[in-house]
Amino acid sequence: MFSDFALHERLLKAVAELKFVEPTPVQAAAIPLALEGRDLRVTAQTGSGKTAAFVLPILNRLIGPAKIRVSIKALILLPTRELAQQTLKEVERFSQFTFIKSGLITGGEDFKVQAAMLRKVPDILIGTPGRLLEQLNAGNLDLKEVEVLVLDEADRMLDMGFSEDVQRLVDECPNRQQTMLFSATTGGSGLREMIGKVLNNAEHLQLNQVSQLNATTRQQVITADHNQHKEQIVNWLLANETYQKAIIFTNTRAMADRIYGRLVAQDYKAFVLHGEKDQKDRKLAIDRLKQGGVKILVATDVAARGLDVDGLDMVINFDMPRSGDEYVHRIGRTGRAGNDGLAISLICHGDWNLMSSVERYLKQSFERRTIKEVKGTYGGPKNVKASGKAVGVKKKKTDAKGVKKKTGAKAPTKRKIANRPKTDALSLVSKDGMAPLKRRKPEAPAAE
Ligand code: AMP
Repeated sequence: MFSDFALHERLLKAVAELKFVEPTPVQAAAIPLALEGRDLRVTAQTGSGKTAAFVLPILNRLIGPAKIRVSIKALILLPTRELAQQTLKEVERFSQFTFIKSGLITGGEDFKVQAAMLRKVPDILIGTPGRLLEQLNAGNLDLKEVEVLVLDEADRMLDMGFSEDVQRLVDECPNRQQTMLFSATTGGSGLREMIGKVLNNAEHLQLNQVSQLNATTRQQVITADHNQHKEQIVNWLLANETYQKAIIFTNTRAMADRIYGRLVAQDYKAFVLHGEKDQKDRKLAIDRLKQGGVKILVATDVAARGLDVDGLDMVINFDMPRSGDEYVHRIGRTGRAGNDGLAISLICHGDWNLMSSVERYLKQSFERRTIKEVKGTYGGPKNVKASGKAVGVKKKKTDAKGVKKKTGAKAPTKRKIANRPKTDALSLVSKDGMAPLKRRKPEAPAAE
């Protein structure tokens, strides 16, 4: 029960108004420690309720009578505009019965309007690092009296190249009394370095056992012969599955646009989101999806970051994500806060090994599904290794017409095979699982 926490009654009233009954595991673990003022490092995915886990303790610290504001007391840094906007909404909902004021600073919004907002000095400032630094450099922002600093989705901020910007902003808060760092993954050396620099004697709460993720989401794979066949399967799923809202993930912008075009041609109400879409498009897509005017979103990973849309209950991986963490982020869109969800990955020959790596990473075996009406010929590799990956088949030499050559040439030696450039999915993943060894160029994050 939320009333078990030492929270101010006005906050409990807001919690009740929002019809939150039971705290989620991350809230149960983090709120008491955060209320004590402890530094926290929390590993928890989006959708776990982590926002309330840091927002409620911050509000509890700042709650009090109406007064003239002289300084920003809390700063919340996030990687994307959408996430920042959603966090502002959450803060406003929880602070509705208090005098606490919050403000938002992200890219894509009017600089001067933001500067005017800063002159009124919000108690809580929420924003993305790039624009916050610009406001700081323009002399519009004073963070010297910040008491609480939150780095949300810190792993993602590092992935997006914000490491130096974040560090600079952290340095601007020398008088902070509490720092909380949230990440969806345990992160790499970059995250460890940041943790060492910004946190002080922090408690590490690890809520994100990947194998326990999304217990309410069924995870299925459907094999496909090629991309056109995948499109047929998508059509079948959209026409026959029961869902409120669906999201289709692709690895490239071009494929997202292509699928979107096909859907619109069939009169589906859909939207496409990728890194080339501007802020207005993104807002519109998310609003329409929330209002229910649009039921299908086609998106790349970068664009879908931080999406929190109620009723998003079907995720289709048109392309298999390139890492286990990315898979977790994608299916984290569904089955949120205890709702049922369905995640379906479409697997061609070239996707198989990536899929089995994700299965091993999650320590789960996805349900194999066949749809009679759109069944193809590919059903997975003939032989698989103990790891689940396909046993490689030696290609026979053929001439340009596809006829087997009778040259009598010797089979290539092992050394020659080893020296060949690797082009299959295997070359994208390391031996132990998911850390990509050689990635294709990722989609550039939208500038903040
Ligand atoms: P978050 O992980 O913070 O993005 O939260 C995911 C969604 O769950 C948001 O829509 C929250 O409003 C909702 N939520 C968070 N905590 C609870 C709770 N204790 N009960 C019901 N819904 C919640």
